[in-house]
Amino acid sequence: MTVKEAFLESIRSLREVSEEYYLETLVLLSYILKIEKEKVYLKENEVLSDHQIKLFKSSLEKLRNKYPLAYLTRHKEFMGLDFYIDEGVLIPRPETETLAELAIKYGCKKQRFLDIGCGSGVIVLSILHYCKEITGNAIDISENAIRITKLNAERLNLLERLELALTDFRNYNPGYKFDFIVSNPPYVRSIDVRNLPFEPEIALDGGVDGFEIYPALIKKAFELLKDDGFVIFEIDPSIQDKVKKEMKKYFRKVDIIKDLAQLDRFAFGRLKTV
Ligand code: GLN
Repeated sequence: MTVKEAFLESIRSLREVSEEYYLETLVLLSYILKIEKEKVYLKENEVLSDHQIKLFKSSLEKLRNKYPLAYLTRHKEFMGLDFYIDEGVLIPRPETETLAELAIKYGCKKQRFLDIGCGSGVIVLSILHYCKEITGNAIDISENAIRITKLNAERLNLLERLELALTDFRNYNPGYKFDFIVSNPPYVRSIDVRNLPFEPEIALDGGVDGFEIYPALIKKAFELLKDDGFVIFEIDPSIQDKVKKEMKKYFRKVDIIKDLAQLDRFAFGRLKTV
């Protein structure tokens, strides 16, 4: 079997299950061949080894069963950086890049920030990568998340400016306060979690309406912020009114910000307006 033949088989097969069949095929073959996806074309006529064919067939079967490509390749790109990902953490979504962008835009010159529920570490590590002076704390209740964030921090050479803690945010008391806090907490409605069967429930399940975690999260963020601090939370558009109302109890100014798909995706709260 040549690379070209494998490519065509994958296209035919994935076309039935995914709209992104072309890109997924490229990524699959770059994973099998251990080359960059831009180089797959140059290898068109190369013959796959028995081992590669086996891996190709079994991977294709998994993808046809909706197993996420990012778990298969154990990579996900976020904010132009390459992250290690496995089944222990949520697969970062592209819209979350806007959360990182907002934090960088408003917080880059600050000293210290906190990411609550860091997962794979994409948010905290992107901010640390693009803001060279800042220090970041990241906490998560999941051991896998702390392990993977640490691994990604090592790979991106950011461990020095990162403070990690395995803890429930409700019990977190570092003894100092933050300039800003970011969080992409679990906000998927419990009945919808079954549509995401491969990812950890703990990172997704936001209770009956997806709002469950926010009251405690908002209160805790308020307690951990300096008095001119700000927070940015990712939300589901359907709970924006509830989130906004809850945040208004503590924050002087609360804005809902859209993602690039024009969905109300982020809640931005400021303690002070200048
Ligand atoms: N945006 C993710 C999804 O819809 C959910 C992420 C989260 O719960 N924080 O799959």
